Amino acid sequence: KPVTHSDSVVVIGLGRFGGAVAESLMRLGHEVLAIDTNAELVQKWADRLTHVVQADATDSDAMRQLGLNHIEHAVVSIGSDIEASVLTVLALEELGVPDIWAKATGTRHGLILERTGAHHVVHPEAAMGERVAHLVTGKMMDFLEFEDGFAIAKTKAPEEALEKTLSESNLRQKHGITVVGIKRRHADFIYAQADSYIEPGDILVISGPTDLVEKFAALT
Ligand code: ADP
Repeated sequence: KPVTHSDSVVVIGLGRFGGAVAESLMRLGHEVLAIDTNAELVQKWADRLTHVVQADATDSDAMRQLGLNHIEHAVVSIGSDIEASVLTVLALEELGVPDIWAKATGTRHGLILERTGAHHVVHPEAAMGERVAHLVTGKMMDFLEFEDGFAIAKTKAPEEALEKTLSESNLRQKHGITVVGIKRRHADFIYAQADSYIEPGDILVISGPTDLVEKFAALT
């Protein structure tokens, strides 16, 4: 039966990446139609997703029959078979799917996907590699960079911020970053305020331009 709900998503390719996307979408309450050529994977996912179909996603007639011309969002997570990945994006584009996401295995694959009609191209390996680089030294406990050079990170409070309030340490003036929240051991996360008092061991959630966030975390 075709999936026509506006918040339904089709995930094509149930490898590690596609499987993780599909599972998270289900947890977030969306309807998920998944398509894979591999019978074993279809079997494995059958009772965990809304619909799982064994089909070749490069076949636009088959995709139309599955109702994909009515679906709002598609995630193409075919990695190793670049030809299949590109032909699938092309088929979805021809069916008029308004929001196509595709996983790229490399820069050139990504460029081809963009030219073929993918609206969003993700590079999970490159993105994760960059994130690990930020985390590996232990200066940051978490790091998230937005496209426009803006980042959020979790880091220990530096010496100069200890045993005073945020307004006293004046980190925004001195370092160009904003403390968004504070996490103290055995306590809930709290939103940072001017009169929030920082103790040794406190973890700060900070935001600001990526280079300034990186410099600030390096102080610890
Ligand atoms: P990952 O690295 O995330 O595991 P893979 O590239 O290994 O990604 O997995 C891609 C998945 O996409 C595989 O399960 C494969 O069977 C499926 N797949 C490949 N080609 C097609 C296609 N034409 N139609 C549907 N599914 C496909």
